[in-house]
Amino acid sequence: MARKRKGEEDMGKVAIYAGSFDPITYGHIDIIERGLEIFDKVIVAIANNVEKRSLFTIEERLKMTKSIFKDTPNVIVDSFKGLLVDYVAKTNAKVILRGLRATSDFEYEFHMASMNRTLNTHLDTLFMMTSKDYFFVSSRTIKEVARLGGGVEGLVPDLIVRRLKEKFKLPVTKRKQIGWDD
Ligand code: ADP
Repeated sequence: MARKRKGEEDMGKVAIYAGSFDPITYGHIDIIERGLEIFDKVIVAIANNVEKRSLFTIEERLKMTKSIFKDTPNVIVDSFKGLLVDYVAKTNAKVILRGLRATSDFEYEFHMASMNRTLNTHLDTLFMMTSKDYFFVSSRTIKEVARLGGGVEGLVPDLIVRRLKEKFKLPVTKRKQIGWDD
């Protein structure tokens, strides 16, 4: 068992789950919920990256994500700018939580985990395999489908369905899910 460093208090096991969350999907939420089975607290850290064009502003992403976890006190939603390792250093987290959807995620994730461990040797990255229901879900595909008027119900929370429709100026009435009969 890892020995506590001097002055380190026992504040429970904390993980950081960082990403763009543009917008948050049930794929993300599944990883967070499963993370809570292992950690006492999960900090959802939304990257405020001005270089990367996002559909939702950082304020919108924070507001939506906070609202989704308003009844889950052990999920903290925050935003960060710059290097993730610098943000992690300001918290009491020792682990970065990540989700893996396919082998295509692996190479990037492997490089990032190795880089983060080089920048902070006390930091580890824990990968969770995507659930079979969400392996094909990414914020990017959700946005593409929603922009073209496809139904994304069941893949993102209802609040996100509404916000996507508002963004793409689609009627906010419940749209039909695309099925084999359409
Ligand atoms: P996306 O790749 O969907 O834009 P983010 O950049 O916000 O998502 O990703 C944050 C983390 O969540 C990454 O580790 C990513 O691999 C993971 N993730 C995203 N979607 C899923 C999913 N459907 N299942 C499992 N993990 C996921």
